[in-house]
Amino acid sequence: MSRIQKILVVGGGTAGWLTACYLARTLNGAAPGSIRVELLESPNIGLLGVGEATFPSIRGTLAAIGLDERRFLVGATATYKQGIQYVNWVRPPGAAGADRFFHPFSQPSQRPGSPELLPYWLLGGAPEGMSFAEAVSMQQRLIEQGRAPKRLVDADYQGPMNHAYHFDAACFARVLAEHGQELGVTRHLATVERAELDESGAIARIVTRETGELRADLYVDCTGLRGALIGGTMQSPFHSRRDVLFGDRAVALQVPYARPDAPILPFTRATAQEAGWIWDIGLQKRRGIGYVYSSRHTDATRAEEVIRRYVGEQAAGLEALHIKFETGYRPEHWRRNCVAVGLAGGFVEPLESTGIALVELGAYLIAHLLPGDLDDMERSARHYNQMMVARYERIIDFIKMHYCLSQRRDHAFWIDNADPASIPQTLQDRLALWRHRPPHRLDFVTDLEMFLPCSWQYVLYGMEFRTDLEPMRSAYPQMAAARREFAMIREMAGHALVDLPDHRTLVEQLCREH
Ligand code: FAD
Repeated sequence: MSRIQKILVVGGGTAGWLTACYLARTLNGAAPGSIRVELLESPNIGLLGVGEATFPSIRGTLAAIGLDERRFLVGATATYKQGIQYVNWVRPPGAAGADRFFHPFSQPSQRPGSPELLPYWLLGGAPEGMSFAEAVSMQQRLIEQGRAPKRLVDADYQGPMNHAYHFDAACFARVLAEHGQELGVTRHLATVERAELDESGAIARIVTRETGELRADLYVDCTGLRGALIGGTMQSPFHSRRDVLFGDRAVALQVPYARPDAPILPFTRATAQEAGWIWDIGLQKRRGIGYVYSSRHTDATRAEEVIRRYVGEQAAGLEALHIKFETGYRPEHWRRNCVAVGLAGGFVEPLESTGIALVELGAYLIAHLLPGDLDDMERSARHYNQMMVARYERIIDFIKMHYCLSQRRDHAFWIDNADPASIPQTLQDRLALWRHRPPHRLDFVTDLEMFLPCSWQYVLYGMEFRTDLEPMRSAYPQMAAARREFAMIREMAGHALVDLPDHRTLVEQLCREH
């Protein structure tokens, strides 16, 4: 029996450093030095440099790698993200009816002994016109008022409101690189020229110009969209899902705040546009704004015009960054002794910020499925690939739901998104079932899902989806108790508004005290 002694991570972006930190911390926790983790990054090839919004799983990951929250906030110029506000997704701007809804990160309130609130909201138990998110959780009211998710006294990565972060991707990679080296990761600055295979088709060695040859038992490809090892050397094919999610380009601007004390949004704002959507993210010193669009429905010149119009006069003189990408993944993320993490393995367009969360999952799966015996490598690979494919497909369904439920028919992009031929059958089946009953926990296989059932519910009902529960009304006899719960959530939100600090104030205090 021979065991893994050395892992080489190739690539020093968010994927590379987060994976290296996670593996160094978790694999060597019990027996220091038992598995060496090394990282190779090119001094000449840059990072993608976008990827500013995260998912709440990041808190667990940063805590697991032992990175102090204040050090992270300062180094990555991070702020708090408590959900996403969707603007103009249901109807085009100017059409009658409010068109904003929230996907907050906190789950609906459910106190022991009280009923699940969703059916009672569907049956009209909440105050007239109150959205699902506002009725069942206090987070929407708090973030509309610019509150932080926690107080100064709360422990690292903890707080009353569920949250993630916004940050500068390049700064984040730098903090992780420092921390990774403190955890014992050896760093090589070199560019892969080629990888050579042994007779079984596994990678035998990596050849670099600067440091010669490097060998390992497992190679983790984090070379970004290039996929230098998994695509280039191992020839693992890419499965495009552009037929479902049309976004394949982005144009981004870094926009300074008008005033140094301008409020920082504690959520991502996602505003639908003629051929995609614009993200608007508040960092400590600037906003990150980007238009994700479909090149089949508009072009780069028009896209830049749209984003500049969104930003207004502050866009004058700012340089726009244009990016190409494609939604899809490699069904074989792991082939022989090479496993891809991050953009090298796949990517789903950035709505709901799944990129870094998929990196976290990749690192977690490698750490926990790592074969004890090198002869078991193929078995681990099969398991890993099954989990990843399932996760990707569920994420793609969830993201597509945002587009296909829209009532917008003002541009070809929205008309094409409603075409059933572009909607996966799994999503069509779920939506058909949910016309007559609300989503249930059992519709979701927890280990395969990134999004909890409540995320599906927030988006589904935010998009004004109708579930006709009237024929089942008698199955829900606790209307009076539900009404008391709705009232209590409003009352608690009032207390929390007093208790929780302003977002910018908290971020500045935490950074000052670092
Ligand atoms: P990269 O950042 O590209 O890093 C690649 C690394 O590999 C670099 O260090 C480079 O030097 C190295 N490298 C490449 N080739 C070689 C070689 N031959 N030899 C040695 N080293 C090499 N994710 C989110 O979670 N939230 C978001 O809001 C979000 N927004 C996004 C918006 C857009 C438009 C896009 C395209 C992506 C977005 N993502 C987002 C995804 C996110 O950016 C990535 O998942 C994340 O940055 C990880 O990137 P990476 O490390 O895989 O690749």
